[in-house]
Amino acid sequence: MHASELDKAILIAPGRARAAQGPRHRGAGLFASKDEAEKSLKEDAKAINDLQDRLWGERQRALLVVLQGIDTSGKDGTVRGVFDKCGPLGVCVTSFGKPSEEELAHDYLWRVHKATPKKGMIGVFNRSHYEDVLVVKVRNLAPAAAVEQRYAQINAFEQHLSENGVTILKFMLHISKEEQRERLQERLDDPAKHWKFNPSDLDDRALWDEFHTAYDAALARCSTAHAPWRVIPADKKWRRNAIIAAVVRGALEAMNPAYPPSDFDPAKITIS
Ligand code: ATP
Repeated sequence: MHASELDKAILIAPGRARAAQGPRHRGAGLFASKDEAEKSLKEDAKAINDLQDRLWGERQRALLVVLQGIDTSGKDGTVRGVFDKCGPLGVCVTSFGKPSEEELAHDYLWRVHKATPKKGMIGVFNRSHYEDVLVVKVRNLAPAAAVEQRYAQINAFEQHLSENGVTILKFMLHISKEEQRERLQERLDDPAKHWKFNPSDLDDRALWDEFHTAYDAALARCSTAHAPWRVIPADKKWRRNAIIAAVVRGALEAMNPAYPPSDFDPAKITIS
């Protein structure tokens, strides 16, 4: 499915405050069957790899993919599924957990800016600067007035990146509360998944509504022309991966990276 078709369902139109619940479920009919989604993902993952090679050859621009979503929404799984065909040389994944002492001693964007992809690379953020208007807001980890200023600061930061050659794709992976219950239960039931279970995830689950209200504010206030948000129906992993891969591929195709012209004539070179 072409990225522009998908966007009719998943793109948060810049500048438009959205109704809290409706749009989150709008993409649920995309890729009606698992087979269709898997076929599409396979083709797109391969195309992404080829395009990444050209991006690296050109070395003028970068792509930043921001993944946000509550616990178990599938951020890691998305990285595995979508960038499966790309080697580690072309894709750099950064996970943002609780800030360290040193990070807290700086402004909140300090650690984020340092992790942005250099020219030629695809950078993926597993959580991001948006935590600073999500968990920080919900748990009152910074004064409300400071958090309030961050939406405009984030928009300015992303505009700065985009004007400096970084294409930004932001995905909120949306799962239902019931789906999260099942995924957390699975982690409890399977000893091989116990390491993934963090009792504090239950504390966040208890604040489900508060987190989603904070998400709605971030989506409404930080969906901009240079860095729009897309909400991904993520209850089905195959649908989630297929949609995101199609959007990533579409963005890379629009960037249309080109290998640089060679400054030698290969016909005149003989390798003995
Ligand atoms: P995940 O749930 O993303 O798979 P995890 O449970 O393994 O990750 P970490 O990656 O170590 O845990 O950290 C994620 C946690 O860090 C989340 O609870 C998130 O809310 C929190 N976090 C991220 N950024 C910030 C921030 N700026 N301030 C406070 N907490 C943050």
